[in-house]
Amino acid sequence: MEVAKTTEEVRGLVSNARSKGKKIGLVPTMGALHVGHISLIETAVKECDFVVVSIFVNPTQFGPGEDFEKYPRPLEADLKICRKVRIDVVFAPEPEQMYPTENVTWVNVEKLTEPLCGRSRPGHFRGVTTVCAKLFNIVASDAAYFGQKDGQQAIVIKRMVADLNMPLEIVVCPTVREPNGLAVSSRNQYLSEQQKKDAAHIYESLQTCRRLIDTGTTETRLIIAEMQKILQQIPSGQIEYISIVDAESLESVEKIAGKVLAAVAVKIGPARLIDNILVDAGK
Ligand code: AMP
Repeated sequence: MEVAKTTEEVRGLVSNARSKGKKIGLVPTMGALHVGHISLIETAVKECDFVVVSIFVNPTQFGPGEDFEKYPRPLEADLKICRKVRIDVVFAPEPEQMYPTENVTWVNVEKLTEPLCGRSRPGHFRGVTTVCAKLFNIVASDAAYFGQKDGQQAIVIKRMVADLNMPLEIVVCPTVREPNGLAVSSRNQYLSEQQKKDAAHIYESLQTCRRLIDTGTTETRLIIAEMQKILQQIPSGQIEYISIVDAESLESVEKIAGKVLAAVAVKIGPARLIDNILVDAGK
């Protein structure tokens, strides 16, 4: 496994692999790798001949007062994990590689970035889409792998790729969870053991949403009220949003029909946790 620190290095390694006819896969991450990331990497390894994992804590997707400074950066442990899962290259650039000069060019996906996390994190998705566009241009992979865990992000990236005719496939992999249902996240490190237990109510609320839709409830208002009751059981949890939206347009739906994304964001202590599920009411 090679560790590339510069765009030139990673480009060289990838173009060498491409000249041998290999299918290139990219797994963009911010590091602090866990089983969620590993499941994306394993899928990429299965589907591609040459896999690049990028590790970059992207400053432009963090807002003022967010956790950019204290975001975990255990690079040595991450490299150890990457060696085990048999990927080909870790691309771990310094910020100067990704943003060599003041960035004045941004990729902005409209509409889809307004609701849900877009509301409380202005500029967040602009940072995500811009850094992903940069990574797609640098690595030039045939496919890139993202997690359903960040459901809105996956939808936004897919749309950017479609709207800008970017020549790669976006693969979305299922959310990996702790045994109690809590979605695995690098930010779970900020939680105490008790808070991790309490956070299980997040997935419980989403499962209740699925059950209500599956048994014929169509009024979003009623479902959200039930989800709220469950989330209110989290001591000192602050609910940021509980939303049920169209799975493509991310517009709110009053009556559920077809495919919806049910998504929640809750602040527990120092951690802002998000989770979501896709439900097909037409099934
Ligand atoms: P991050 O390092 O948090 O930016 O995440 C990098 C990628 O891993 C994103 O595409 C995430 O959606 C994905 N990811 C993070 N946690 C999980 C999880 N629990 N299950 C599946 N994918 C995940």
